[in-house]
Amino acid sequence: MRYVSTRGQAPVLSFEQAMLTGLARDGGLYVPETIPTLTAADIAALAGQPYEEVAFRIMRPYIGDAFTDDEFRSIIARAYEHFGHAARAPLVQLGANHFLLELFHGPTLAFKDFAMQLIGQLFQASLSRSGKRVTIVGATSGDTGSAAIEAFRGLSNVDVVILFPHGRVSEVQRRQMTTPSEGNVHALAVDGDFDDCQARVKDMFNDFEFRDSVGLAGVNSINWARVLAQVVYYFTAATSLGAPQRTVDFTVPTGNFGDIFAGYIAKRMGLPIGKLVVATNQNDILHRAISTGGYITQGVTPSISPSMDIQVSSNFERALFDVYDRDGAAVAGQMADLKEKGGFQISQGALQRLQETFASGRASEEETADTIRTTFAQTGEVLCPHSAVAVKVAAEQMTDAPMITLATAHPAKFPAAVQAACGQHAPLPNRMADLYERSERVTRVANDLAAIEQLVHERRAH
Ligand SMILES: *Cc1c(COP(=O)(O)O)cnc(C)c1O
Repeated sequence: MRYVSTRGQAPVLSFEQAMLTGLARDGGLYVPETIPTLTAADIAALAGQPYEEVAFRIMRPYIGDAFTDDEFRSIIARAYEHFGHAARAPLVQLGANHFLLELFHGPTLAFKDFAMQLIGQLFQASLSRSGKRVTIVGATSGDTGSAAIEAFRGLSNVDVVILFPHGRVSEVQRRQMTTPSEGNVHALAVDGDFDDCQARVKDMFNDFEFRDSVGLAGVNSINWARVLAQVVYYFTAATSLGAPQRTVDFTVPTGNFGDIFAGYIAKRMGLPIGKLVVATNQNDILHRAISTGGYITQGVTPSISPSMDIQVSSNFERALFDVYDRDGAAVAGQMADLKEKGGFQISQGALQRLQETFASGRASEEETADTIRTTFAQTGEVLCPHSAVAVKVAAEQMTDAPMITLATAHPAKFPAAVQAACGQHAPLPNRMADLYERSERVTRVANDLAAIEQLVHERRAH
């Protein structure tokens, strides 16, 4: 399996190279050259299999000869062993034909664990074979950083350095980053906001001397291996509700478009998905783009579902690449307009193709809180604000097919918003009930590239 860039100008890479590289050198994102398909019999045979077995069968065609079957099976086993639910991604019923896919039973209580835990094990397997050592750096507004630290803690060939805005992440999120005691984990509290953190990470990647001296690597949401890991639960959920005989719909709380793009890949692999519904909060650029064709940035307004507060949705580029018939130059043109003019217009033909697969909707702050309250009253399920956005949009998009809504975080990660909406205190699961007692380790640093780079040099193992 070979990987090509969405902008058509970067070298074609293997799975392992694409995973270690992240962003393509032409600024594009790597996608598989072809999408493997499963027969109806292959899909039917997935029903009732353990999550790890489905993961192996779905992902195996994408990894080429990077790992032997035995190696890949043990990578998958290690990735999911610390999940707090035997099903890994259990499905619960919300209404007559509406189901919730709970993706928050991983170590940091958000769906990002599915991809990050796998990528940690993939990196470690690849680096221990080559004898190389890398420094993963990332900026976070909360969820990504904690998932990355949890995935890479204690791995011998990796240091992980996470920059977060001092005083601007929730207490649960901060503690998840500052309480791991392993020496290869480095949490840096930057005197600045999330954009400052992201800008300093970019600066580090552009400082080639520094980049090479510490072996900088990134694991942000554009990494193909992260998308791939998320394809798996679309198959486990749909087959447990009767696919391939029955068609199902999905609604996904969306920010960077990684999670819903994984659903699109599942559909292209042959899973009978009717529609994929993009659910946005008040930062609704994707809803506007899919319903009108205009992708126009308007600034970000903070919401109670902060992981969806975006205006540049990186993985959307992968969907554009396909609806433009894999024309890298056309995609590059739109991305240049985004950068220079703050937006672009999707062509009629491409928009039509986009709308054949994707529907969309939005939820205001009030509607989100209302949905948390009514869902709790009617079903006893306590939703996090991100999942509530999707439940609201899903209700508007119901057809005769079963609707599966993705629940992307545990309500205990957003206790204040949940309490305000439905009066419930959402407790942390038992396995992390002592999070508030564990001791923290964090380094406060100025919003200054030289100071941050020096810290990285000092702290990482040699
Ligand atoms: C990251 C995140 C999202 C958005 O997922 P994308 O793949 O970026 O679209 C939604 N909900 C939660 C809780 C998240 O952490």
